[in-house]
Amino acid sequence: MSTSKKSTKYVFIMGGVLSGLGKGVATSSIGLLLQRKGYRVTSLKIDPYVNVDAGTMNPTEHGEVFVTKDGMETDQDIGNYERFLNTELTKTNYMTTGSVYLSLIQAERNLAFGGKQVEVVPHVPNEVIRRIREAVKKSKAEIALIEIGGTVGEYQNLLFLEAARMLSQLQPGDVQYVLVSYLPIPGNLGEMKTKPTQYAVRTLNSAGIQPHFILARGSHALDAPRRERIAMNTGVPAKDIISAPDVSSIYQIPLNFEKEHLADKILNNFGLKARKNDLADWKSLNRKIENPKKKVRIGIAGKYFGSGDFTLLDAYISVIESIKHAAWAVHAKPEIVWIDSSEFEKNSSKLRGLDKLDGLIVPGGFGSRGIEGKIKAIQYAREHKIPYFGLCYGMQLAVVEFARHVLGWKDANTTEINPKTSHPVIHILPEQEEKLKHKDYGGSMRLGEYPCKLKKDSVAAKAYGTQKILERHRHRYELNNEYRPELEKAGLLVSGTYTQKDLAEIVELPGHPFFVGVQFHPEFLTRPTQAHPLFAAFVRACLAKQK
Ligand code: GLN
Repeated sequence: MSTSKKSTKYVFIMGGVLSGLGKGVATSSIGLLLQRKGYRVTSLKIDPYVNVDAGTMNPTEHGEVFVTKDGMETDQDIGNYERFLNTELTKTNYMTTGSVYLSLIQAERNLAFGGKQVEVVPHVPNEVIRRIREAVKKSKAEIALIEIGGTVGEYQNLLFLEAARMLSQLQPGDVQYVLVSYLPIPGNLGEMKTKPTQYAVRTLNSAGIQPHFILARGSHALDAPRRERIAMNTGVPAKDIISAPDVSSIYQIPLNFEKEHLADKILNNFGLKARKNDLADWKSLNRKIENPKKKVRIGIAGKYFGSGDFTLLDAYISVIESIKHAAWAVHAKPEIVWIDSSEFEKNSSKLRGLDKLDGLIVPGGFGSRGIEGKIKAIQYAREHKIPYFGLCYGMQLAVVEFARHVLGWKDANTTEINPKTSHPVIHILPEQEEKLKHKDYGGSMRLGEYPCKLKKDSVAAKAYGTQKILERHRHRYELNNEYRPELEKAGLLVSGTYTQKDLAEIVELPGHPFFVGVQFHPEFLTRPTQAHPLFAAFVRACLAKQK
């Protein structure tokens, strides 16, 4: 039924019943399977909010801001896609309602519509389709997966559903729809209920879309009677209702889908066939995850995990994944301990709890909450030889700590916290100062990929095995070069620089088992079967400490 074997194919992934079902991981897993069957795949994420990008949102509400190499501040799902598909995506792989309207309105102001009335329909869905096709062109993909954020039935994703429907009119047979739905088991009934999923399909139907597949998420596997009931009531064939129960690791999901032949069924519907099927490395990864030989305990001192009575870890997902990948690579089971650094501010004796860790990470962040506690924790790690890895803010605070306690500059600080400090060892990047004066906050940090040159024989150079690297950034402040000679003389090694602007990118402490701070975000480049070199070196140092 497809227009041709050569035309680009599109698979839309949508959510029913509730959000947070793992649509991103489902999309990534389908993508991985199609890729391993020999197809060039790309993945797009559509977020239905009015924010132009994810950069202006609080991570506690929205989760991690994932930065692409070309400097777009996107949703954490882009990170999942990159990790599963082992690829680097770009701006074109991400859109929001805000970004779609912004470009339409700008085009209208530039008379691009030649005097026509610009309408929500079809112009908004047309712009969505144009962007999808642009991403396909850029990536030369044969199959594009498009995840529509939110849940069907919300006003805010209607126009994206309309784009998904229209694309199938434009290219009959080239578009399929996957609904990721939820099957609750209410405690008082103890039985899996299908009705919410039936309603979700009807809602989708009212947008003119009949799903080809339903991924039945739930705490348990879907059984035969319920599969039949969903099939009977939705018209989705029973064989295309895929059971997707909770799993202990997201990396099992592709293997579970493969058992249900999901990717082959999708290919088959397009009139295509698997060209190969190679999942050996993925299977071996899962064996490593399931059979650890040791443990490694790593503390993360962050602040974006509280939401009412709940602890949400989404804000640090790439950091968590990086630790996992590095631990699994050496057959270790990672145990992550969440540290509320403000506790150290109230009671210094709590710092002794850090002795129980094999290593400490201070991840990226903004603002002053918990900062003094983090500085105390860094000092403790430095003095007690606990492996320390500072990511962005964690690097800047390590410099502040060193300036205060090794150089004795008691009020040393970053000007983000104290603009009046007499020792501004971390200060704002010159171009950033201008932007903040004009309240230019959106998408205006130093963002995306920059090259970094490493000092020979440094911990960093040894970890990477090269002296030239590329890493992604998201910051406004930097190490103040005025203080660099004194910091270096006192023993802080600047082992990586962005040479074009002589900007310090990495600091380390020679003689310490592992004390490294990086101005960039290495966590964005980790891969499940290929740990990031710095995280790998950090975890090795953590394991060495156990001995
Ligand atoms: N707040 C710091 C800065 O803007 C660090 C940013 C970060 O950790 N991503 O430079």
